[in-house]
Amino acid sequence: MPERMQKFVSIDRGLAAKRAAKERVQDHREILPDFAAEPAAAQASRCEQCGIAYCHIYCPLHNNIPDWLKLTAEGRLEEAYHLAQETNNFPEICGRICPQDRLCEAQWACTLEQSGHGAVTIGAIERHIGETAWKEGWVKPRRPEKRTGQSIGIVGAGPAGMAAAEELRAFGHEVHLYDRYQRMGGLMSYGIPEFKMEQYVVARRARLLTDAGITFNGGQILGDNLSFNQLQERHDAIILAYGAHRPRQLGLNGEKLAGVIPAMDYLVASSRAQIGESEAPKINAAGKRVIVIGGGDTAMDCVRTAVRQGAASVICLYRRNRANMPGSEREVAHAEEEGAIFEWQSQPEALSGVPVEIIASQLESVRRNGAIRTVRAHRTDLVADGDGGRLIPRKKPFSEFEIAADMVVNALGFLVDDAGPLTGGRVGMSERGRVAADRTTRMTAADGVFVAGDARLGPSLAVHAIREGRETAAMACRYLEQARAVVSA
Ligand code: FAD
Ligand code: SF4
Repeated sequence: MPERMQKFVSIDRGLAAKRAAKERVQDHREILPDFAAEPAAAQASRCEQCGIAYCHIYCPLHNNIPDWLKLTAEGRLEEAYHLAQETNNFPEICGRICPQDRLCEAQWACTLEQSGHGAVTIGAIERHIGETAWKEGWVKPRRPEKRTGQSIGIVGAGPAGMAAAEELRAFGHEVHLYDRYQRMGGLMSYGIPEFKMEQYVVARRARLLTDAGITFNGGQILGDNLSFNQLQERHDAIILAYGAHRPRQLGLNGEKLAGVIPAMDYLVASSRAQIGESEAPKINAAGKRVIVIGGGDTAMDCVRTAVRQGAASVICLYRRNRANMPGSEREVAHAEEEGAIFEWQSQPEALSGVPVEIIASQLESVRRNGAIRTVRAHRTDLVADGDGGRLIPRKKPFSEFEIAADMVVNALGFLVDDAGPLTGGRVGMSERGRVAADRTTRMTAADGVFVAGDARLGPSLAVHAIREGRETAAMACRYLEQARAVVSA
């Protein structure tokens, strides 16, 4: 074992200093800077270099983590980057936005975390490797050495579509990405706020794809100004990677009041203002008493965006407790530092205010002032479901309470758009409401039409979408290869 590694005994876990909460809520910029070279090498040298590397197993991309940590500790960053890039198309993106505390740095994934020494800061080091590669000019477009003469159309330019496009192009196919938006990135551009990842990070990866020869067609909406027939006429294979964006309904009285907003509308409006597509956010929490309903990462992003927009107060209502929330603990801690208040074990039961229908003639004023007035909620007790699954919230008797609100954000999660109407009925949905496809080949009921990312998995993570993009691209390549063999036979 080289002397350079296993320094966890003498070096504590550490990250680059986070910007102070008071300062960071004044803007939308990233809250964590990149490591400098020396601390990155020192942190990487803490790795125990386990015989069986659970971090490698629990990383959805099965990154060769111990190997690139060792290369980083030895200052061999170019080699580290090439190794990282072999399994992950966007290392500096995952290094920023993966919930590492639930993946590679979790107690079950890093032996050091389990033994109480604190996990290796794998995500931050992956980011450092990627950032160094960009600075040094080691990141190059993956142009093909040969051409297959076959063409593939990908609907959705999120992480799944982008990763699939890069792989397919490198293999020699002509690749066209279609998206309703004018930029690539999907939720990485229009959902995930800049305080988690600034836009230049996605934009330079998007440029790399076009430099590799991939054609990006923005403003193209499948089922609207782009038909499935057109796609089939133009391409030898199609990948549906259109994500999961349809909001779950709150199912509460008062849901239609003005001022009750789906999370995606809120975050897209904020992102558009940040990236200069609109002058100011169309939905703005400034001066308002904001309530966010939900306990996932989307809810955290809404809470923290509202704080930055200058909300008078921001309260997050979640029906389970902190230990049982789906979002990352790290994000909750950030939100708390920034002044958000969490009402744990609190379930909304009705929204009340001035119904828009009654005062339709004053709609503008209602919108400006917010028609929602109060959220009525109750506390919950958490009970075991008997199957060892997540605790189930039950209403606690006589625990109702009301909170005043000018704006309520529904962050209960998302559903996948029905593929039926988008494809003229040729692609169906599973019982679980995802685009149905063969588990192994990823092919839908339509020949040569594949699915990847959230559209297949339901709302998930960028790292899962990247894996999906890579795996589906491999399946599509195999299909196209067989098609070539038939033609030449
Ligand atoms: P998407 O990223 O959703 O991309 C799909 C693309 O398809 C979009 O660009 C969309 O415009 C386009 N599209 C949709 N319908 C059509 C159509 N009919 N025609 C043409 N184009 C269409 N994951 C993390 O790992 N870390 C995080 O911190 C994190 N934070 C998140 C915060 C929020 C607010 C949200 C909503 C999600 C977050 N996620 C996070 C999840 C992650 O962003 C997604 O899992 C991931 O982006 C899914 O990738 P995808 O490529 O499958 O779909
Ligand atoms: Fe960890 Fe995500 Fe990087 Fe995998 S891709 S090593 S889970 S940060």
